[in-house]
Order: sequence, then structure tokens, then C-alpha cells
Amino acid sequence: MTTGTQDANGTTLKQRYTDVKSRIAAAAKHVGRRPEDVMLVVVSKSGTVEQIRELMQMGQVDFAENRVQQLLQRAAQIDEWRARHAELGGTAPAIRWHMIGTMQRNKVKKAVEVTRLVQSVDSLRLAEELQVAAAKRETPVEVLVEVNVSGESSKHGVAPGAARHLVAQIETMVNVRARGLMCMAPLAGGPAAARPCFERCRELYEDIRQTGAGGEHFNILSMGMSGDYEVAVECGANLVRVGGAVIGPPQVFEEPGEA
Ligand SMILES: *Cc1c(COP(=O)(O)O)cnc(C)c1O
Repeated sequence: MTTGTQDANGTTLKQRYTDVKSRIAAAAKHVGRRPEDVMLVVVSKSGTVEQIRELMQMGQVDFAENRVQQLLQRAAQIDEWRARHAELGGTAPAIRWHMIGTMQRNKVKKAVEVTRLVQSVDSLRLAEELQVAAAKRETPVEVLVEVNVSGESSKHGVAPGAARHLVAQIETMVNVRARGLMCMAPLAGGPAAARPCFERCRELYEDIRQTGAGGEHFNILSMGMSGDYEVAVECGANLVRVGGAVIGPPQVFEEPGEA
């Protein structure tokens, strides 16, 4: 699929990307915020490497994956493409990869090599593993503490009451830096159900900032996905994670040999 090709729903990647960006800007302005203060991270998990490259050429730099294996594979593929692209005189900035899914212990070490921001830290144990894994890095690994604001048992994340303590514990680790909080809205209920969750997470974030538990670099509030990113921006998110609304419907691949 190339730029300009329509997907099953009749829109192109560029149209969807532009639309999401302008909706983010409108939501920000609606509550008196500057559009440039909200970072769009494109969740590429259901997309193709080709779509990632196209988005890079439209200027997108931040991408997220939820599985370490796929993240590593794609990071390698994109690096290879960038090298070839550079040989031909092209320039494309390096991707900043975000990890947004659960991390198995045995994959933490590899993941920190390529990840800019681990958004899914939900236990002291994972933070400690990151501390060990990041020992060889020149800079600390930056993380968000994932908070389960909706209280659903299916959701990952620490209980809201435990978030500040975990942030404070991370602050004592030299190789890990807590940059903020991440949360998800309930699965059901749409934007209306999302709003109170996002407001709660925003309050928690402001509380932690006020106590100084996270230090000066504690300044990222990651909330909002395809169905609720405008509400999230209205509630104070400065990072949104949007997959489907940009990537489009899952791609259908033809079997080799078929006409
Ligand atoms: C998949 C995923 C997203 C993006 O979801 P969409 O509905 O496709 O926008 C955002 N955050 C997390 C943690 C995810 O797993």
C-alpha cells in the first residue's frame, strides 16, 4: 500500500493522519491549550512497516508497540531502511520508540536498547529490572508509571493509591527516570466513561507533581487512544497514543499464488 491508496474505509493514511492531528489541535484549543504541547504517538502494532515509513516521511517521529519482539524487529528493519535511504542522499530522523505493553522479564534487557520511553511500568519489580538492564546505557531509561484508574481487573497498572509511592521508589534508582503517568479508559462506555478516568489520572498526576516525588522531569501525562483522545486532551493529556484512527482497518494480505 502506498501513499494515496485508499483503505477499505475509503480514506488514505495521509488523510487519517492529518485528520487526527487537526482533531488534537482543535481539542487543545478548545480548552485553551497549545496544540504543540500535545505529542502524538502513533501506535503501529496493527500496521505495516511500510505504513511506518510513510508516516516518517510525513514527519512522524514517535511510534509505539506493545510487544517487545515486534518492537525489536521493526526497529531493526527501520534502521536498515534509514541506512539505505541515507546512502541515496535521503534523510529521515530516527524513530523514538515507545513500549506500551507488558514486558516479560527475559526481554527487558533487549527492549531498553531501543526504547525511548517505557510507558507500561506497573510494578517495583519491573522498575528494578529496568534499573539493571539500563546499567550499560549512557542515559537513564525513561518510564511512565501505568495506573489502573478504571479499576477493571483486566487492566494492568498500579492502583491509584500506590502510584506516588512507586514514582518515589523509581526516583531513587540511578538508571531509571520517572517521567509521568499513563492510563487507559474503561473498555466499554466510550468517551463518556473515559472522562472521569482521565480526570482522576490528571489529579493524581498533579498531586505527584506538587509533592515533588517525581522531580522536575516528571511532566508527561499519557492518556487517550483512537476512541477517546480528544477527551483526553481536554482533560490535560500531553501525550496521546493513537493506533487504529491513523493506521486504519487491519490490512488483509493476499495469499501468494492467488490472483
Ligand atoms: C493498542 C493500544 C493503543 C492504541 O489503541 P487504538 O484504539 O488502536 O488507538 C493505545 N495504548 C495502548 C496501551 C494500547 O495497547
